[in-house]
Amino acid sequence: MSRVAADLHDLRAGLVYRPDFPSAPTGLVISAFKEWIKETGRPEDFPQISTSRPPKDTELSLIYGPFRINRSLRIDGTLVPCPICRPFSPKYLEGYLVWCRASKAIYAIGIECGQDHFGKGAFAQAEADLLRKNRDRRIENELIERLPFVPALAEWANAWTAAASESDRLARDFRRRCPTLFTHLKNALRGTEDLTVQIETAGLLTSRAVGTEVVHRVRGAEWLAGTPDLSKRLGMLQRQLDSINLGRDPDDVYLRLADFGQKDLNAAHRWLLSCLKAVEYLHPRLLAGAAFLSTENLAGVERWANHPQINLRVRAQRAGRTVTISTGLSGYDWLGKIHVLDSSAPLPVLPWSSGGSD
Ligand SMILES: [Zn+2]
Repeated sequence: MSRVAADLHDLRAGLVYRPDFPSAPTGLVISAFKEWIKETGRPEDFPQISTSRPPKDTELSLIYGPFRINRSLRIDGTLVPCPICRPFSPKYLEGYLVWCRASKAIYAIGIECGQDHFGKGAFAQAEADLLRKNRDRRIENELIERLPFVPALAEWANAWTAAASESDRLARDFRRRCPTLFTHLKNALRGTEDLTVQIETAGLLTSRAVGTEVVHRVRGAEWLAGTPDLSKRLGMLQRQLDSINLGRDPDDVYLRLADFGQKDLNAAHRWLLSCLKAVEYLHPRLLAGAAFLSTENLAGVERWANHPQINLRVRAQRAGRTVTISTGLSGYDWLGKIHVLDSSAPLPVLPWSSGGSD
């Protein structure tokens, strides 16, 4: 049977051929297809699909997929027929929507059939193109969704400028003036927020058992970790945010992104992710200084440091904006003045991070 004769045979047998697409279909057709298979589970009945065998020798483009069909949607629970290998009997649940230039048609094919039918090289190329297109689309969507929050993040960062440098200054001062207490705290707080002491309990048969008792759960333990470089990091974040600030109006952002080439979109996306990472790093640490230097927390630290087992003879107090910490017998070791550290600007609500996407 000749090729044409075979095709005609197919068509007589109830397969359909619709040469509706001289060029690859647009986003509208793709979203309609997505919606269709989500609701019906029947790609073979999509109004614009062809179910006849796709041509072999053709330019092709994978326009959607790999998609997965929910079998329970199909009335008889059968698999989807594949126009390449089994046009009349159940074959697959996972497939691709593919466009062929030679036939000007789209087909929903089983995931395993493309390579053999269209050739390994051509199909691998089409797969790579689809992956890249999907990634490009995801990047653009993320930018459209998230860039309008950049101005609010910039305001938040600006509001913390003075507090960040005060936090750094106080942290450096505290380390320099109270090295013993600082080192004890740092060692005690490795991987925990609890300041503990060992306790012994007398057993009946064993002579004794050893356990730990939590004397105080430290607030703002992050303030003691790492180098005090919040100011520097915040400054970098502010410059990065400035460079991708397209305003807070979503329509405006959308229009302005239309002028971006893919390279610029990718670069903006990298900046954006790095900004969000910096915000995530900075936010708890900016709050940590005020939390650590609060009256209640200093009282807890003092209680722990003066426990007979630790025995640092510490006085750690706060009166108004003044923190006094002394150790041992020296008059005072550290007198910290707090001006702006506890003026907190709340972090803007970022809808995508609460939704748990990404
Ligand atoms: Zn197949």
